[in-house]
Amino acid sequence: MKTCEQCGNEIQNNLKICPHCGFTQSSVKKAAKSKSFQKINLKIDLPTVDEALQSARRKINTARSKGLGVLKLVHGYGSSGVGGRIRIELRKELLQMKTRHLVRNVIFGEDFTPAKCKQLLRRFPELEKDEDYQRRNKGITLVEL
Ligand SMILES: [Zn+2]
Repeated sequence: MKTCEQCGNEIQNNLKICPHCGFTQSSVKKAAKSKSFQKINLKIDLPTVDEALQSARRKINTARSKGLGVLKLVHGYGSSGVGGRIRIELRKELLQMKTRHLVRNVIFGEDFTPAKCKQLLRRFPELEKDEDYQRRNKGITLVEL
């Protein structure tokens, strides 16, 4: 047995998440650090704007509970039709989440450059290897958790 780092209750050694308070133990967070960045394609089963927003919200919550640092949301950049509306609505939603401190930061693909992402790149240097780095890709948005 070990004790939960948050609430202090006894929990089994192999448990990643405390059953009493839901806190993710830091030994697990460290393990997740090597995989701090994840790409999520929202276009795959892309549906309506509402479904895309719901899917994004779910994936952000899951990523946060896993201790991930950054999500790259691939939403496409159509200027009209569903693709364009998803980009606009999703970004609006993400900025609201930032205002409410539900996410740390939101970086539009077109701002994914050395000049505009200094702090993010310091935290997650592996992002420099990303295929969209410095490409000004409007079809993606990065979410820092
Ligand atoms: Zn606990």
